[in-house]
Order: sequence, then structure tokens, then C-alpha cells
Amino acid sequence: MAIKEDSNIQLFEAIAEDHVRNIGIMAHIDAGKTTTSERILFYTGRTHKIGNIDDGNTSLDFMKQEQERGITIQSACTTCLWKERTTQEEYRINLIDTPGHVDFTAEVERSLRVLDGAVAVLDGKNGVEPQTETVWRQADKYNVPSIVYVNKLDSIGSDFEMSFHSIKEKLGATAIAIQYPLGTEKEFYGVIDLVKMIGWKWVNEVDPRTNSIPAPTQIEIPAEYMEKAQEWRQMMLDELANNDDEIMMEVLEGKEPTVEEIQAALRRGTISHKFHPVLAGASFRSKGIQTLLDAVVDYLPSPLDIPAAVGKDKAGNDFECKPNSNAPFVGLAFKITTNQFGKLTFFRVYSGTLKNGSYLYNATRNVTERVSRIVLMNADSEEDVSEVRAGEIAALIGLKSTKTGDTLCTEENPIYLESIKFQDPLISEAIEADKHTDTDKMAVVLMKFCEEDPTFHFYTNKETGQSIIAGVGELQLDVNCTRLRDDYGIPVHVGAPQVAYKETIRKSATCEGKYIKQSGGHGQYGHVIFKFSPNPGKGIETQNEVTGGRIPKEFIKPSIDGLVEATAHGLVAGYPAIDIKAELMDGSSHPVDSSEAAYKMASSIAFKLAAQKCDPVILEPIVKAEITTPEQYLGTVLGDISSRRGTVTDTSSKGNAQVISALVPLANMFGYINDLRSMTQGRGIYTMEFAQYQEVPKSIQEQIVKSRTGAGN
Ligand code: GDP
Repeated sequence: MAIKEDSNIQLFEAIAEDHVRNIGIMAHIDAGKTTTSERILFYTGRTHKIGNIDDGNTSLDFMKQEQERGITIQSACTTCLWKERTTQEEYRINLIDTPGHVDFTAEVERSLRVLDGAVAVLDGKNGVEPQTETVWRQADKYNVPSIVYVNKLDSIGSDFEMSFHSIKEKLGATAIAIQYPLGTEKEFYGVIDLVKMIGWKWVNEVDPRTNSIPAPTQIEIPAEYMEKAQEWRQMMLDELANNDDEIMMEVLEGKEPTVEEIQAALRRGTISHKFHPVLAGASFRSKGIQTLLDAVVDYLPSPLDIPAAVGKDKAGNDFECKPNSNAPFVGLAFKITTNQFGKLTFFRVYSGTLKNGSYLYNATRNVTERVSRIVLMNADSEEDVSEVRAGEIAALIGLKSTKTGDTLCTEENPIYLESIKFQDPLISEAIEADKHTDTDKMAVVLMKFCEEDPTFHFYTNKETGQSIIAGVGELQLDVNCTRLRDDYGIPVHVGAPQVAYKETIRKSATCEGKYIKQSGGHGQYGHVIFKFSPNPGKGIETQNEVTGGRIPKEFIKPSIDGLVEATAHGLVAGYPAIDIKAELMDGSSHPVDSSEAAYKMASSIAFKLAAQKCDPVILEPIVKAEITTPEQYLGTVLGDISSRRGTVTDTSSKGNAQVISALVPLANMFGYINDLRSMTQGRGIYTMEFAQYQEVPKSIQEQIVKSRTGAGN
């Protein structure tokens, strides 16, 4: 994709913090997020050509996988400039691509952490859809102000009013229409600006010079729309008066608020989450983009309008990162990607300025890194800049040790921002390249995926030698396998998903291990006595209580190491043991035959004895699931949770939805997304995170042991 040759880097560097907008576009799959982003890039002059999503040719969704599945997985941050059409002032918009799929919660939350405002795109045929609810509620969690853009108003069956009302009905949120569409379906040609009471009209004909639909022209509100315009403007003013004291005063005094007063009230209320301005458009027809961009700069917050990020200083005191370019530099690395230019570390600057050629201090890892290139990204191409200031988002090329979630700052002023929390792996699958000769290549690519996505893991099972991929969801693993095949030409096959079980003991006991081989010549002698006790929540702890040199000093460490190694193989079904206290109490030695290897073996024999004496048990991961469902499906969803051995810990209402918190064994959550969708007609959503390990019921333990033995383990 080409960048305009005349793109003006000077301009990029001259923009003040209050003229920056860091925004994300959130939407249900297929609502038109990609098309809208694409048109934004075109009309802000960042791309030459309008990509048609249907040709699989767009700037933002540059991963093939995403286009095929129609979902966006990786966030790309794209920078563009927009001249507000009334004030003619230049704004910098950093467009952060937020994925719309529920299995990529980590990706969504990661992008929500660094953006200041959002545009929620609705499909004008469907209004609020299940995924809109998901991302809406995530944005709520991070207090992200948003405006709503009702798209596809050119399509048959589209309905602006229905879409508008669905915001209140399905999301329980206050919406204020600031536009009303002109023309319906195929005849959709423009919008009424209810604030200024004017119209904007787009033509249908492509301008051959730019090969695109030109910018809209201002028109008077057509007579046949005057009544609608007045009705909807009144609705806007009433809702504003309900939410804004200044407008309320004007109304009480019988005055008509001015355009400036209305805009100021809309901005105040949007930024403070009281309501959401609603706009209209048809991105595919290039209608509504310029008016949307004006609303982005008019109503969404700049970095100065949101509360300052708070980190900790070295002494552990709170430190406010003021969005001031002269303050010491503090930033957060929020995304790492690799493309043809190498490794890109996306970061947001919370305070100060980072200059090219300087050094930064990664406080999280206690390392200094050289800043050799700072770039602003335009989908998959880039522009070098000499500095980035507070409130900005950019990417660094060439950082070596920085990982996602690390705080970047200066050595003189080390600050620790709250790291982005990532889920530990919950499921794993064995993976193998179809062609044996691809094995090494597969490993290299999988390592790269791990760098890009901190919740994805790849390792070798030492016991079986199998290559294992692990992560937080089935779809995540599936997508990476498809990427291997399609983007890298490495077809693979995987085993069934496995839950990460563990094992522990319930009783204390003393266990003796002897490994003695004396068959002539140099023999082997190791002898240990351990006391094993349950150690809930504290992992494997070891202690040496041997006195009087009954085990010579040099064999103490091998004895303990041998024990720790043995715990990795468990006691019941071969899963790693946890939460055991192991005290080395006693043992003996042989003047000639004692050896490190023999003590290791003796410890392993002692541990095996614990299987008989310590009442071992299998533990399973329990997840805390938060399920949001429309009220009418509550009973069905609750019944289903109990049939999955789940325990409901809380139910509450949010907007007009019910939120259920429950503890459920992970093993019973495979495929849950599909089951939940069918129980709730697609409207239920859920997130889950690891809560704790818990004993499995006896009958299930038996099944697990049987399947492990059956599988040859
Ligand atoms: P995303 O999944 O939200 O990124 O949606 P896309 O931008 O990929 O759009 C999904 C489909 O809707 C594509 O076939 C688009 O061409 C189509 N589409 C997007 N915007 C419009 C629009 O304004 N009008 C119509 N009729 N179709 C649109």
C-alpha cells in the first residue's frame, strides 16, 4: 500500500496534545469496521486507493487470516491527520484496531487500555448485535467514552431509528442522535446535522481524478425532512437538558442554546460517559466519513481530557504521569508485532517526550535500550519521526528486551505502570507438522507467535517429546494453526485439547527411598527418608532436616533435586504435583558406593511411595466465568451452569442484562461459546479467567486415570 509522497512529516510533529485523538473502532463482525477504517485512511489522505474489503484488499486488516475469517485479531495502530471542517484546525488521529471476537479478549482489553475514546459501528440493518454488547461492556469496564456510527444505511432493510433505539433497549445506554439520515436504503444520500440544522449531501458519481466519491456539499434541510429534523433536534435538546446543567438552565430560561453551547455540552457529556452521540452513514458508499471524523475530534477526548495514568515510583508511592511533554518520559509497551520491517514495539507515551537517538529505561526488566528508530505506522508501512510526545502512540523498531506490558521510562525516574495482566495457559494441544521436514520451520514461526501474543505458548513436553501449543482458548490455538498453514505454508495437525490438571496429597506421611546396587565392582548407594505434608497454595517447598552428616553434605542437594524432579511426574495420573512440603529427615550413606545419581533415584522412589501413603488426588483448574445474558435466558443459562458442575457465586444486573459470576471446571467449558450462543439466540457473552485448582470428584478422577492409562501414559 502506498503512502502519499507529499505526506508532511513536519505536520505530524507540530500537533499539540489537545489535538490528538487515540481512538478504537469497535463493532460486531461484519458491521463495517474494516470498511469504515479504510475510508478514514483514504479521506485523511493516508492511502491512495480505496480498498474493497470484498476483494480482500484493505489496509488495516493486513493479515490474511483475518480477512478469511472476517475477524480482526491483531491490533494495528494507524496514524492519520484530519482538518476539522469548521475550525480548519489540524488533528492527529491514532486509530487503534480493536478485535471484535470474544476469544480475543486479551487483545481487546490490551487496546482498550491505551485508547481514549471509541467509535462503535452498528450495522444499520441489525442495530446492536451480540458482539456489540461484548465490546461495549469491555469499553465500559475501562471507562472509554464512545460515539455510535450507524453504518450500512444504504442497504435494504436498514433502519436508523430502530438502530438508535436498540442502544437503549439492548445496552441500557443513553444515546443522543446528532444526525438524521437523508434518503433511505438505495436512496440514502446524506445526513442532517441536528446541531447546526444543515444538511450534507454526497453524490453517487466517482470523481475520475481521485477515483472516489468527493467530499459532501452543504445543503439546506430539504422541506420534506424539516419535520423529522425538528422532532429529532428536540429529542437531542431534551436529552442534553436531562444530562447537562448548563443546557438545562438555557431551556428553563426559554432560550435556544447556540451551536457552540450544544457542542460543548455534547463533548462534556460524552467524555464523562453520560451519553453517546449517534451518527449515520454508509461507509461502503463513502457517505458519512467526513462527518464522522468531525465528530471524533469534536466529541471524543484528547489525552488531556482523561484522568492521568498512575504508576508507582521506586519507593512504591503513587506517581501521576501528567500528560505533559516536558515531564520525565513514561510510556507503556502494549503490543509487539513482527512484519517485513522487523520487530515493532507499539507504545503509548503517558508523559514526557521520547527522542530518537536517546536511550530508554525498561523499568519492568531493569534494562536500558537504545532508541534507534521511532515510527508512526500506517497499517503495514511506516514513517520515521524524530520524537513522540505525551498522549501519542507510536512504534519503536529495534528494541531487544522489551515485552508487552513493560513500562518504558528514564533511568533517573523509574516508574512502574500496572502491567497488562495476561491469562496463564488453560488448555494445550499437541502439534505436529504434516511434513516432518517442516518441524524446525514450524518451531521458529510458533516462537514468533509467542512474542506477538503473550497468552500463547509453545514448548516441548520433555516426557513425551511432543511439541505442545498452549493458550487461553480453543479458537486462539485454531487460528494460529491456520496461520501456520496459510501464511507460512506449514500444514499441521493437532491433538484434542487438554486441560492443565495438577496433583497433590491430602495426608502427611514419612516415606523411605533406597536405591542400592551392589553387583560386584563399583556399586550404587542412595538412601533417604522424606516427610511429605499438604502445603495448600504454597507450591512445592523443600527443607533439609538431616543432622549429624547421616547423608553427606554433597548428596543433600542431589536428594532434594531428585525429589523436585519426581514431583513433575505426579502420583496419580502423571500430572505435575503441587502444594507439597517435603522435609528430608534422614538417610544413610556408603563409604564407596554413594553417588549423586543414586540419591536422586532414592528420592524419586520415596516420592512414589507417597502415592500409597499420602492419599493423593487430582486437581483441576476452575475458572471464574462471567456470563452476560439478556434477562429472558437467565434460567436456562443458570441450569446449564449447574449441569457443568459449576457453582454460581453471584448474579447482578447491568443495564438490562444479567451478569452471572460462576466457578466452573475448565474441562466442562470447551465449546461453551457455541452452547451459550444457542441458549441465548446469540446474545449471551462470557469471559473467563483462571480462579483456582480444586480436587476433582472421585468418579472423574477415575475417568482421568483410565484415559491416561488408555492413552499409554
Ligand atoms: P467488519 O467485519 O466489521 O470489519 O466489516 P467489513 O468492513 O469487513 O464489512 C463487512 C461487509 O459489509 C463487507 O461485505 C462490506 O463490503 C459490507 N459493508 C461495509 N460497509 C457497508 C455499507 O456502508 N453499506 C453496505 N451495503 N455494505 C457495507
